[in-house]
Amino acid sequence: MKMLQQYMSNKKQLVIKGVKVNGFKRGSNSKAVTGVETNQGTIDCEQVVIGAGPWARDFWNMLELPKTANIKGKDGKMHTTDMWTYWMLQEGVIGVEPDFLKMNNGKAPPVIHVDSTAPLYSDKTKKLITDKIWGIYYKPDIEGLGVQGGTSPYIVDKHFDQVNVDPYGIESPEFQTTEAFNDMWCSALAHCQKRFEDKSDLYRKGPSGGLGCMTPDSFPIFDRFLENVYMIADANHGYKMIGVGELVAKEILGQESDLLKPFRFNRYEKGELHPTSNSPFPWS
Ligand SMILES: Cc1cc2nc3c(=O)[nH]c(=O)nc-3n(C[C@H](O)[C@H](O)[C@H](O)COP(=O)(O)OP(=O)(O)OC[C@H]3O[C@@H](n4cnc5c(N)ncnc54)[C@H](O)[C@@H]3O)c2cc1C
Repeated sequence: MKMLQQYMSNKKQLVIKGVKVNGFKRGSNSKAVTGVETNQGTIDCEQVVIGAGPWARDFWNMLELPKTANIKGKDGKMHTTDMWTYWMLQEGVIGVEPDFLKMNNGKAPPVIHVDSTAPLYSDKTKKLITDKIWGIYYKPDIEGLGVQGGTSPYIVDKHFDQVNVDPYGIESPEFQTTEAFNDMWCSALAHCQKRFEDKSDLYRKGPSGGLGCMTPDSFPIFDRFLENVYMIADANHGYKMIGVGELVAKEILGQESDLLKPFRFNRYEKGELHPTSNSPFPWS
């Protein structure tokens, strides 16, 4: 409460950290949200903007938005699907020399991303890992610990309301990359570049990875709900969201963005979906 009182008396302070949103206060005559209920009191507001990453589900539930989405198929028929799907993003680091991927001209390499339908064999046991499509990405580790990257994520086989998002990431007792990831990713590295052959023992074991919360078509949603709540559900598209904040701010001030329009929530009901990719990654 003290922090909120400080805020009220000092309007210059625009960002207050460490405040947990628990719910929303609604107006009596309209759907609009009139206040944000937090663990430190209620903040009255005219406008709410939500960008909650993997916690999009929680905010969606707080706003009592539908648990399912109706999607118009190519056949013209309506199909119903769960609103959110959790995917587990698997990442790790192989402890090779920091310059292991340096290019012949001495420069840093680009991020390498490979999707393949070639059968993938274990670099260690030579057994078949998969003959289905697989994908990996890798780049020098930002902390110089070797080469960092990941594989295509897997779908968490639970209704979205049953998924324990917290504790998140490396704190999670439930969602961590496994030995199978180690074998698959290191073998895929060896498949892509010979220099990784016989290096899987250098994989740095330890907690890694994290959950992502995907929309029904795995593309982001940018839209207004309950009159004055703007939601950015990024569906794990990460850096591709750079610049979105400015577009959203303009939309809130009344200037609709042609770039954001295709990402409205009603695209599902209208059947105006984005093209489906063949990649094993939901965001490619
Ligand atoms: C393992 C992993 C690796 C990734 N690697 C990459 C990468 O290499 N490149 C890339 O571009 N993207 C990457 N991404 C995706 C990227 O992290 C996300 O797309 C991006 O962080 C989403 O940004 P956001 O601001 O929408 O949400 P977030 O960054 O998730 O921020 C949401 C915030 O909401 C807060 N919050 C949640 N609940 C509440 C509440 N009740 N009250 C108040 N605050 C709350 C959270 O604490 C958090 O700070 C990766 C994701 C994962 C999981």
